[in-house]
Amino acid sequence: MSGLNPLDPLSYLGEELAGMRAAGSYFRLRALESPCEAVSRADGREVINLASNNYLGLANHPRLKEAAVEAVRKFGVGSGAVRTITGTMAIHMELERKIAAFKHCEACVVFQSGFAANAGTVSALLGPEDHIISDELNHASIIDGCRLSRARIHVFRHKDAAHAAKLLEGLKDAAGRKLLITDGVFSMDGDIGPLPALVEAAGRHGAIMMVDDAHSSGVLGRNGRGTVDHFGLHGRVHVQVGTLSKAVGVLGGYVCGSRDLIDYLYHRARPFLFSTSHPPAVTAACSAAFDLLLEEPERIERLWDNTRYFKAALSGAGFDTGVSETPITPILVGEAQTAHQYSAALFEEGVWAAGIGFPTVPKGKARIRTIVTAEHNRAQLDRAVEVLARVARRMGILGA
Ligand SMILES: *Cc1c(COP(=O)(O)O)cnc(C)c1O
Repeated sequence: MSGLNPLDPLSYLGEELAGMRAAGSYFRLRALESPCEAVSRADGREVINLASNNYLGLANHPRLKEAAVEAVRKFGVGSGAVRTITGTMAIHMELERKIAAFKHCEACVVFQSGFAANAGTVSALLGPEDHIISDELNHASIIDGCRLSRARIHVFRHKDAAHAAKLLEGLKDAAGRKLLITDGVFSMDGDIGPLPALVEAAGRHGAIMMVDDAHSSGVLGRNGRGTVDHFGLHGRVHVQVGTLSKAVGVLGGYVCGSRDLIDYLYHRARPFLFSTSHPPAVTAACSAAFDLLLEEPERIERLWDNTRYFKAALSGAGFDTGVSETPITPILVGEAQTAHQYSAALFEEGVWAAGIGFPTVPKGKARIRTIVTAEHNRAQLDRAVEVLARVARRMGILGA
């Protein structure tokens, strides 16, 4: 890197980008030209979409769209302020009540995104004298929340609850509060966090237990209530984060827990206090999505049927799909460059699956990530596996 260029103080950005191009990690954004659906149109091509988080096919669902349009007609396009000024509409309160009841919790606060929910909550609950015990693969929004809190961060080996317990044990005489935090489902490998053992460890050491159910909302548990319901741990996880942006199909994040927790976050969570609330359309569409989760649990059945079918077909074709237990199924290919080239070649052949490499995943563990949805049909999944295998053989990822 050369030094400062006084004529262009941003010249280092061009050098950084050139470095990314040389390393093969530079990307161009692909633009969707249709709704997000099982078969989508992007960059002028019809492709089987295995890259979205639209697990239940709600992103373009008529009931959600109708609710959004109706809300625009009644309440306009913007809320006009942050929640604590005049930006709380009756429909915001209704959505929070609905989610709290759905999750069997006392109360709920909705944030503008799952990212804001995590970052805003961790940083509001803890301060510099406190301790956070965090899985090494936790999501970036948790990591940022931890950093913003200025608490001491103690990282435990992925899914290693014994390691987490040992770290807590080592802190038993330390001053300050302790927070034990994990993703419910990990977004890169599709594995499920060891919630029962973590809850046990947190309970023994008086730690706050927090789970981020972004990829489990609408996917795991009865009607998609998440990992706490999946493991039967109601009442034992103090802070449950969920997202409205993935299976719920719209945008937003939420925290469920005790009335005091939510009241406190109303007063102290910075994204809640300092950023404008959801527009009416988003709020109403989210609300309609929770009605659908209750009325049509068969969507979740279809998602899991497709997941089992697709995983079996991938294994049958000889792919290494790692440790996934959920609809997130990675196909491990080794080097980042290979993953990006594989993803690009697949797109040309009509399959959209994201290539992911270092630093998002460890070196040597680059992959393409696939996510099936409830809306894919068997013909689409068969076709996708056929293309995945054919291109992989051509590229030497699978043996001939
Ligand atoms: C996607 C994701 C988030 C962020 O959710 P958004 O609503 O998209 O901001 C947080 N945590 C995890 C684990 C995620 O996968």
